Amino acid sequence: MKYFDAHCHIQFDRFSEDRTEIIERMKQEEFGGLVVGVDMASTKAAIELVQQYPHLWASVGLHPNDTPEEPFDAELFRSFAQDPKVVAIGECGLDNYRPEDPEQEKDRQKKVFIQHVELALETDKPLMIHSRPKKGTMDAYKDLIEILTSYKKEYGEKLRGDIHFFVGGVEEAKAFSELGFTMSFTAVLTFARDYDEVVSYLPLENILSETDAPYVAPASRRGTRNDPFAVKDVIEAIAQIRGEDTEKVRIQVLRNAERVFGLHLA
Ligand SMILES: [Zn+2]
Repeated sequence: MKYFDAHCHIQFDRFSEDRTEIIERMKQEEFGGLVVGVDMASTKAAIELVQQYPHLWASVGLHPNDTPEEPFDAELFRSFAQDPKVVAIGECGLDNYRPEDPEQEKDRQKKVFIQHVELALETDKPLMIHSRPKKGTMDAYKDLIEILTSYKKEYGEKLRGDIHFFVGGVEEAKAFSELGFTMSFTAVLTFARDYDEVVSYLPLENILSETDAPYVAPASRRGTRNDPFAVKDVIEAIAQIRGEDTEKVRIQVLRNAERVFGLHLA
């Protein structure tokens, strides 16, 4: 395998017309991917999809606020997590981005996130974390670091995972690295310069590549539906920002995905 998309949603309806073609082309061009569930229905769809293909795996979870009306059915997600193609728990996390959210929304999200952390520890799988701070702050990351630090003390190496679509600064990146987490970056790197500092700062071992497809297409096809092939653009952007050899970055980031998700990709 050449590239690994650590976070995509190709089970979504936006791929219903050409999903099979995309997945077949991924196989031919040696792209692998982690198909991430955001609620019960999309988690079930992710598992059913990845069972059919050796180059795809699934992550099971309830997004912090995509479907705030859906309760977290811990028993159901526990049973989802038993599938051998499920290699991560999430997406789960804390999202304070919406200014209209009431204060108790934070508590609700924390409770649901903690249930995911406990499921990850129980099933010995990494977390796939979505966290978005309120504009102009790092509040959600601060809360996340606090929760993860307290679990780290008790569970050590067993607590692990990835901070998806990382939008934090050097300080937060340092804290997550020390907790043993990776941070994944999207094709935003191809059109915004906001993350150059953090991408340069992080040890290469703490970086994963992702697309979050169908969201955020790269500069070359901005505004269109994204797909897992953009993970190649992400690798090229990381190499360019860091001033490192693209091939070196590609191989190390692939190794990182193997380590985090317990896969054999090479
Ligand atoms: Zn996502």
